[in-house]
Amino acid sequence: MTAKMAEPEPTRDGRAGPWSRALFARAERVIPGGVNSPVRAFAAVGGEPPFVVRAHGAHIVTRDGATLVDYVGTWGPALLGHAHPEIVEAVCRAARDGLSFGAATAAEVELAERLCELVPSLRGGLVRLVCSGTEATMSALRVARGFTGRDKIVKMDGGYHGHADMLLANAGSGAATLGIPGSKGVPDAAVRDTLTVPFNDVEALERCFSQHRGVIAAVIVEPVPGNMGCVLPQPNYLQRIRELTMTEGVLLIFDEVMTGFRLALGGAQELFGITPDLTCLGKVVGGGLPLAAYGGRRDVMASVAPLGAVYQAGTLSGNPLGTAAALTTLELLRRDPPYAQLETSARHVCEALLKAAQVHGVALTCNRIGSMLTPFFCDGPVLDHADAQKSDRRRFASFHRDLLMRGVYVPPSQFESWFVSTAHDARTLETTVAAAEAAFANIVLHA
Ligand code: PMP
Repeated sequence: MTAKMAEPEPTRDGRAGPWSRALFARAERVIPGGVNSPVRAFAAVGGEPPFVVRAHGAHIVTRDGATLVDYVGTWGPALLGHAHPEIVEAVCRAARDGLSFGAATAAEVELAERLCELVPSLRGGLVRLVCSGTEATMSALRVARGFTGRDKIVKMDGGYHGHADMLLANAGSGAATLGIPGSKGVPDAAVRDTLTVPFNDVEALERCFSQHRGVIAAVIVEPVPGNMGCVLPQPNYLQRIRELTMTEGVLLIFDEVMTGFRLALGGAQELFGITPDLTCLGKVVGGGLPLAAYGGRRDVMASVAPLGAVYQAGTLSGNPLGTAAALTTLELLRRDPPYAQLETSARHVCEALLKAAQVHGVALTCNRIGSMLTPFFCDGPVLDHADAQKSDRRRFASFHRDLLMRGVYVPPSQFESWFVSTAHDARTLETTVAAAEAAFANIVLHA
């Protein structure tokens, strides 16, 4: 049937048209829910997802012929825009020399050296390359447990650290969107040692520590949570976590899979001046390829095999394509740090959303730090997962549909962050602002 359809005319309407709908019907027959990661589903906003054929700079192009301004940015990695020519070139060059060796390379040493220079908690420490954020957090926690000889871990309500069993307790991101923050298939035993506390609540963490003295291995936290939507740490909150963990002999793990290299070259830890014991990196560092890392204090990381007795391994770890993409990304960021530009662009989007909401009398709180932002459809402040839940999700769904219709692609869930890239120029920002103004007018009419 699809073969007989006329090729689509160029458009701005990003909603799934006949081509995407036909592909989705095929996808549903062979892929659970038709998507390879639940956050890509349109369950929370209605309709089918548009299928993507290519992406360049700040834009994605759908199978139905729409060119859309993209704020998903492949869920974070596309800090420098899609298909940055220097990154693409580096990957192609590396590919010609072999796709994977499963053996030591100079490039992986160089990358580890670079990471240990740029990220404060890695200075003087050790780092291990892996292929996904999930692997990084899962491995860092195993190391923390191995090093301390303790079993319990603490995470935040609405914090998301990938899909390892022990971390699917009050989890954010797609798990929160779909209402399955504690997944089926996770044995009780796997989450028995996972304690959760609200973000930005020092007293709750103190209570948790005093109830479980001497048995907590680590606190794992997104220093700026992005998976309950974007939520900012209150002044001194991260500092207090650092002090409390230090006092209790608990390791502090910053999950900077989202914030690493996005908020600053040295990540949120550099921005806030807090040094965790271990750090997890992913997304931006891989430049769009499956590359992630975890590392930190030398004494702690010395537990990792073959140096120590904590086992962690990977066939494709440090593979030449991911490593080439990462080295080029870091070089581009070092050569020309984009953070001032990202700040200006993202502030512009945020302010335009707030202004349009105000004009149309829509309650809106827009949390933003650097190039991460989330508009919540409620009065603020939004300081934790419970606050984020107060957002009017019907209004969000209406807003999402309207933006998509007008050429702007944002995450199909209230509980995600939008990402601005260096490729978002004045024109793309104006498209966004115009679309948002129209979308807010419609919310009042329809939602
Ligand atoms: N940690 C954080 C903070 C994340 O945002 C994510 C992914 N959204 C992960 C870990 C998991 O990373 P991956 O999807 O690469 O496994």
